[in-house]
Amino acid sequence: MDSFLKIDHFSCGYPGRFVLEDICFEIKQGDFVGIIGPNGSGKTTLFKGISGELSTIKGKCILNEKLLQKMGLRERAQNLAVVTQTIEAGNITVEEYVLMGRFPYRRRFQFFETADDLEIAQKYMNQVGVVHLKDKPMNALSGGEQQLAGIARALAQEPQLLLLDEPTSHLDITHQVQILNLIRRLSHDLKLTILMIIHDLNLAGEYCDSLIMMENGTVRKVGAPAEVLNYEDIEAVYKTVVITRTNPISGKPVVFLVSEQVLNKKNFNRRLL
Ligand code: ADP
Repeated sequence: MDSFLKIDHFSCGYPGRFVLEDICFEIKQGDFVGIIGPNGSGKTTLFKGISGELSTIKGKCILNEKLLQKMGLRERAQNLAVVTQTIEAGNITVEEYVLMGRFPYRRRFQFFETADDLEIAQKYMNQVGVVHLKDKPMNALSGGEQQLAGIARALAQEPQLLLLDEPTSHLDITHQVQILNLIRRLSHDLKLTILMIIHDLNLAGEYCDSLIMMENGTVRKVGAPAEVLNYEDIEAVYKTVVITRTNPISGKPVVFLVSEQVLNKKNFNRRLL
């Protein structure tokens, strides 16, 4: 594979409490990859390891043939951007917030943004669809609008790799689909490589090029959504009975949950399905 991001026998974490073990996977440039797995399986820890927030215990993270661990903060921020689940930006305007994405490009003793910075911020606010909100304070936006502003700020960093931590949690389906459509478009149009933590298996299956399934600090499975989202793996990892089918329009896998009531009442037997 022509890998753009290579995570190679990587480990990081909280020694004595929780560490990731021997994480290995590779991603092609421009791929949109979902990370799934139950709470506590290590998804956020992996993000913190890749972004450098946690130090490496073992192994390598290589982005476009460069070792991420060798990069300083500034160089790292020019190469990868993170959008967190909740954005606490207070009273600053959307434009000021998006301009913060330009900090890694400031020269020493440069206290104000340049005309280029303003143009870049404007470009990504346009692309993401928040330019009409640019003078509004961040804390006056809805959750969906804040996520969009967060994506615009991350794009203003002009990274090669974008890490998104559950961008659709707390959003209704209109905004979930709006954000995921946008992210898909960005990965395609900007050739941006995207790693996204996502809890909703159906959205993960519908939108992502491939999925990484985590379990107890390890990678259990990597592959196309149809390979990863099978009932055996899902049931083993999530300890929950599910039925998997194929979306008749998109051909992507869908996962149905079954309540305890139904499981008990119908003398549930998977083989009869
Ligand atoms: P996920 O994102 O898959 O829900 P996390 O990576 O957040 O999982 O957490 C994995 C494990 O690491 C959990 O058992 C959690 O308790 C532990 N953990 C997370 N943050 C810390 C921390 N700051 N100190 C110690 N342990 C932590």
